[in-house]
Amino acid sequence: MLIFKCGACRKKLIRYHKIGPGEVHRCHKERIDKYFGAEIRADGLYCSCGRRVGMNRGGFYTMDKKSVTYSGTKTS
Ligand SMILES: [Zn+2]
Repeated sequence: MLIFKCGACRKKLIRYHKIGPGEVHRCHKERIDKYFGAEIRADGLYCSCGRRVGMNRGGFYTMDKKSVTYSGTKTS
């Protein structure tokens, strides 16, 4: 599981089930395990501080590398 945090205010955003190799910043919606401070809007995922942290791409979000940090382990 990976925990994404807002790079601006350090608030926890989502808990994400990362499987296998590949782009960490592409978050498939069905693998988002839990929403913390993240707010879902039409165009993406926002932190409660107002910063947009992810772009809505349909089945997944592309997380903004400048706006998020993450920690945790990948499941291989
Ligand atoms: Zn924030």
